[in-house]
Amino acid sequence: MMRAGRFRYHVASTVADAAAALADGGPHARLLAGGTDLIPNMKRRQDTPDLLVSLRHVGELRGISVNGETAIHAGTSLDDIVKSAAIRAVHPALHRAASQIASPLIRNTATLGGNLCVDTRCNYYNQTFEWRKSIGFCLRGPVPDGICWVAPSGRRCWATASSDSAPALIALGARLTLLSREGERDIPLEELYADDGACPLTKRADEIVTSIRIPSRVVRSTYWKLRRRGSIDFPALGVAAAIRPGPHGVIEDARIVLGAVASHPLLVPESQLLIGRTLTDNVIEEFAEGAARHARPLDNTDFAMTWRKSVARSFLSGALRELRGDDPSTFPLLARETALRNGWRFE
Ligand SMILES: Cc1cc2nc3c(=O)[nH]c(=O)nc-3n(C[C@H](O)[C@H](O)[C@H](O)COP(=O)(O)OP(=O)(O)OC[C@H]3O[C@@H](n4cnc5c(N)ncnc54)[C@H](O)[C@@H]3O)c2cc1C
Repeated sequence: MMRAGRFRYHVASTVADAAAALADGGPHARLLAGGTDLIPNMKRRQDTPDLLVSLRHVGELRGISVNGETAIHAGTSLDDIVKSAAIRAVHPALHRAASQIASPLIRNTATLGGNLCVDTRCNYYNQTFEWRKSIGFCLRGPVPDGICWVAPSGRRCWATASSDSAPALIALGARLTLLSREGERDIPLEELYADDGACPLTKRADEIVTSIRIPSRVVRSTYWKLRRRGSIDFPALGVAAAIRPGPHGVIEDARIVLGAVASHPLLVPESQLLIGRTLTDNVIEEFAEGAARHARPLDNTDFAMTWRKSVARSFLSGALRELRGDDPSTFPLLARETALRNGWRFE
């Protein structure tokens, strides 16, 4: 049986209490929300904190309000998001992403804040301590001067961003509130992420994600996920798309985001090129081809990387066709099979 190392435990009663404990705890203190990512990582000795600050009893960190702008407190469980009729109606991308995270049991415990801060993943890293030791560990330690087994000649970690909710929320234009003992700050969600597998978050260690806000713009949105097992699995690819159609279907705003193909959720720069256009077949296919070029999956997660790249193009096309209101039976083959296998309902 794998056991976590020894650690101290502080049960916070308020966010201010948690912020103070985190600041006093120093660099080896961690926040514990649902624990569905952190605890397995501690058992595998990927992380060895000496203090856990539990957010489980911080009531002010839970709740959803959809009233013009949508606000979701960071300690809200994924299950509460999935069960929210308002989220389902107003933000289908977030609803579909949340409902495909892990399994029902995990979604009951796991929180949105934890999902946004979930660690990056790699076949050479998400292994037991003994397994990693047998290959001499990797760039991420715990020994110095390890190599990256994915790209041995380089000096960076290519572990993959694996949150499902992050691409969906970035597509929806979400913003994040971070709180520390020094005060609050507010950032666009995409700025939380750095393109670095070993150090994927830009926030300071003493900052707590307290809430996520989605603007009230009327958009159509969706999220497509590739995973091996429909019942439980991290994304091998995620495509989130949100568009705001104006009169005659002319697009007024568009944000398309790729997940699980880089160390950060990737906001496709060509999204802007969709503005002012209508989603004709040509526009969709031209966009899907260009955007899929940003997907550079590496050989560090599930499925063959060249195949994952081809799925990116198919999913981009499928997602935009869904937003246009097409019947799934007309989608490109891979997209059609995924939609039907998952039983996605297009409303
Ligand atoms: C079998 C299995 C399958 C999984 N499948 C998926 C999947 O398909 N998709 C997916 O996205 N994830 C998946 N996960 C990962 C994980 O369950 C989810 O990402 C979950 O949402 C993490 O939330 P949590 O509350 O449990 O986070 P925790 O484990 O408590 O925390 C995760 C990290 O976030 C930090 N953190 C937590 N809350 C905050 C906060 N408010 N502010 C700042 N930092 C914070 C913690 O310190 C820690 O570093 C899976 C996990 C397992 C075990």
